[in-house]
Amino acid sequence: MWRSELYATEVHEKLVTPNYALPVYTAPIAGEALLSWLCRLAAMTGQSPLAFARQAFGIDSVRQPEWWRRPSADQRSVLLAISGLPPEQFDDMTLERWSTARNDENDRRFSPIRMIYPKQRERAARTLFACAACLAEDETPYLRREWLIGWQAVCARHRTVLMRRCPHCRWKLSSQWLRDKEPVDLHRCKRCGGLLAGANGPPAIDGAIDLQAAMLGVKRRGSGEIPGLGIIQWETFTVIVDLVLRLVWIDAGDHARETLLAELVRDLSLAPDARFTIDWKGNYGALVLMAWMIADWPVRLRRALELLAAPRVDDLLGQVHDLSEASRMRARTRMRDVLNYQSRTMDWRLWLHGLVEGGTDFRRRARAENVWPRKDRLIALALLSEGRAIEEAAFAVRVSTNMIKRWLEVGMAYGVEAVLEKPLRICDLTPVQIDEIAAWLTATERTSGGPLKWSREHTRSEIMARFGLRITTNAAYQLLLNNKPRHKGS
Ligand SMILES: [Zn+2]
Ligand SMILES: [Zn+2]
Repeated sequence: MWRSELYATEVHEKLVTPNYALPVYTAPIAGEALLSWLCRLAAMTGQSPLAFARQAFGIDSVRQPEWWRRPSADQRSVLLAISGLPPEQFDDMTLERWSTARNDENDRRFSPIRMIYPKQRERAARTLFACAACLAEDETPYLRREWLIGWQAVCARHRTVLMRRCPHCRWKLSSQWLRDKEPVDLHRCKRCGGLLAGANGPPAIDGAIDLQAAMLGVKRRGSGEIPGLGIIQWETFTVIVDLVLRLVWIDAGDHARETLLAELVRDLSLAPDARFTIDWKGNYGALVLMAWMIADWPVRLRRALELLAAPRVDDLLGQVHDLSEASRMRARTRMRDVLNYQSRTMDWRLWLHGLVEGGTDFRRRARAENVWPRKDRLIALALLSEGRAIEEAAFAVRVSTNMIKRWLEVGMAYGVEAVLEKPLRICDLTPVQIDEIAAWLTATERTSGGPLKWSREHTRSEIMARFGLRITTNAAYQLLLNNKPRHKGS
């Protein structure tokens, strides 16, 4: 029975004879995370993890729900004193002696979205991964420390993909860690209460299992061997993962990406429907992609760069967040064989690169510009020319990524000035201009397309090429409507 008043008066005494200081006791299990053990103790007292940590140890987890990963010196000594655990056993339940680099323990850190926004603050709840078969074998189900790192994807024991959804209600498993205000059963679904223990998950490929094991070793010690890459620092490896994910998921065309994934599925002898059964943007997908990449490094990196018509490796590195100069140099060394890669297709990066080489200073022009739509466009072009991704430029000037792509298309076709000018609406055109366009449209044989025979986009570009006027798509539509093509023979 828990009696906090009684307990409070006893704390001092208990610090001397610590084993009795906890109101309830159950031994931690080998490999168990401190979080899991605290949740089990809390549940035994009928308390929430939040209340239990407050009352038993005087630790407030509201602001720091993940303090269990690396407890401060004070937190550690309080826990050691009150729990009576040997320091060695206690430290083993945390990630205290594990290295960490570039927020690698953030929620699903190696998923494409996390790779773009690694610093985004954690949501109230974090994704939880677990192995149903491991839980089923447990006498007392508990969460393994490794599952909680954040980028884990497979169970090496059962050689399966870790579960992310409740097997009963398909709800995504999540945890508020020590902030939870209700008692928690970490082996039950929070939503439907169903037991998470169960049958094996889908089988994981050997390459992914081996890579995850190697990654754990490297993370733990700060450096070590990743097959295909050799001895590498954990931080450098996180840079390479970020670069590969950025290469594949950001800015790459859908068709090119699908071609790459089809090659990967074939190279790894995966089932033909793997494109649909694997969550490629999730932890396991990222692991499979990396396993494929390092199995023939750097040949497959070059293949991916070429297939995806990617920017140069140095440009990609320029887009990776939190990159120290030392990390950049180390990552470059790992990719020295592909540094000379250059996209063969004329893409917008080359266009911007050429302009900058030719003396265009987008930053300076943006600063000098007073008209806000022009200023925004110059800022976007400046960011893009400095190596940022389309998504980032769109975010910075608060427009859609499609709008940025449109600007780039217009710019490559008609030059920078065309990007800065607002397209003309129908009412901006002079009567003479409208008459000229009308005469030309009526006289022009327009094949293909619908009743108006040309798309608005095509009409816009024809008018731009012929009359030097950049008009809105709506203006193009108005002109098409008013000047239907002449039927042959009429
Ligand atoms: Zn397992
Ligand atoms: Zn459920």
